[in-house]
Amino acid sequence: MMTLATEKQKHQTQATTATFSTLKCKECGAEYEPVATHVCEICFGPLEVVYDYEALRSQVTRESIEKGPNSIWRYRSFLPVATDNLIDVGTGMTPLVKSNRLARRLGLKKLYIKNDAVNMPTLSFKDRVVSVALTRARELGFTTVSCASTGNLANSTAAIAAHAGLDCCVFIPADLEAGKVLGTLIYSPTVMAVQGNYDQVNRLCCEVANTHGWGFVNINLRPYYSEGSKTLGYEVAEQLGWQLPDHIVAPLASGSLFTKIYKGFQEFIKVGLVEDKKVRFSGAQAEGCSPIATAFREGRDFVTPVKPNTLAKSIAIGNPADGIYALEVARKTGGNIESVTDAEIIEGIKLLAETEGIFTETAGGTTIAVLKKLVEAGKIDPDETTVVYITGNGLKTQEAVQGYIGEPLTIEPKLDSFERALERSRILDRLEWQQTVV
Ligand SMILES: *Cc1c(COP(=O)(O)O)cnc(C)c1O
Repeated sequence: MMTLATEKQKHQTQATTATFSTLKCKECGAEYEPVATHVCEICFGPLEVVYDYEALRSQVTRESIEKGPNSIWRYRSFLPVATDNLIDVGTGMTPLVKSNRLARRLGLKKLYIKNDAVNMPTLSFKDRVVSVALTRARELGFTTVSCASTGNLANSTAAIAAHAGLDCCVFIPADLEAGKVLGTLIYSPTVMAVQGNYDQVNRLCCEVANTHGWGFVNINLRPYYSEGSKTLGYEVAEQLGWQLPDHIVAPLASGSLFTKIYKGFQEFIKVGLVEDKKVRFSGAQAEGCSPIATAFREGRDFVTPVKPNTLAKSIAIGNPADGIYALEVARKTGGNIESVTDAEIIEGIKLLAETEGIFTETAGGTTIAVLKKLVEAGKIDPDETTVVYITGNGLKTQEAVQGYIGEPLTIEPKLDSFERALERSRILDRLEWQQTVV
């Protein structure tokens, strides 16, 4: 009897906790069953998951979230999963670091760094979107998962698929950094290195998705995948003591992450978890691939595709799927979208490392360089509570800084050899300092 009652209760709980029901076209509003589909059949607009915010408002409290797991799944009611069979590899709840030295260097008073360079399991924010996408993929019955990747997504999909026991085939541009390739191969997926840029990889994958019946996390599973990025908004709100910041700065590739942080903040306001507040959204691109920044600067509401040519490969998407929505978010919140050169990106990586002890990849260098540029242009107020999103780890893009970071001092295992080397390095430091002053 007991067992029966418990079983029944369990089913009832499951039924009442399902807070999403359909997919809805962002353009025309047409609704679809929540299956593996991402484009509206009527107007070709992107599809987005619809939630029951009334149910969320009554089910979720700050306390219930705080009692949840120390991962993105503490926000599971806001994520598009229907069962309890979650893939939880510890993704999310990365540190929100109060910056002292970088803040002082830039002249900001309240700067925070959201550090997804240490996200689990593969050291980038992509672990968030993949944890959600593969959980949903399994619910929808997929046994093979795939992706079109600029590097980090391939790492994440391969690792989490391995953990979940799913077959995996990933597609990357052939010219990626060695760390990104090795960091995929180690999990033994099938890796297709495509001789072309990301946009060409993506086009190929759209064809494969149509013919092979695989779950492509960022194509036919994109509505679920992209929702994972909302957790970057939720966590910041929770880690700031259930408050929203005044300004955020984040990198833009397809523009998805940027728009979903916005959605995350809006949802927390809607269900009463944080007070309503206007947050300014500023976006960062590399000059060698800056279609969204260019459209922003020129006041256009459409994005003209470009051919990428930048060392920031992880954000080099020339034809960004969510570009127009990112433009809309930046404009309506009073933010900006800026771009920086490859030289500034390298400086950005070094600046964050030297001041905060965080080694980020090229995307993070881009974001820090844009943060600096916005502060110098007076577009970030020193008194604003500003959060800068660091989305990936520098150990994966070592090529980018090779030749810009000095060399170790090679010495003999003798005290006098050490003393001589130390004296030489001090002289060099002084010379460098004098040059900077001049
Ligand atoms: C993919 C990626 C981004 C941006 O992702 P979008 O959602 O496509 O804009 C930012 N940073 C890193 C490190 C990434 O790998």
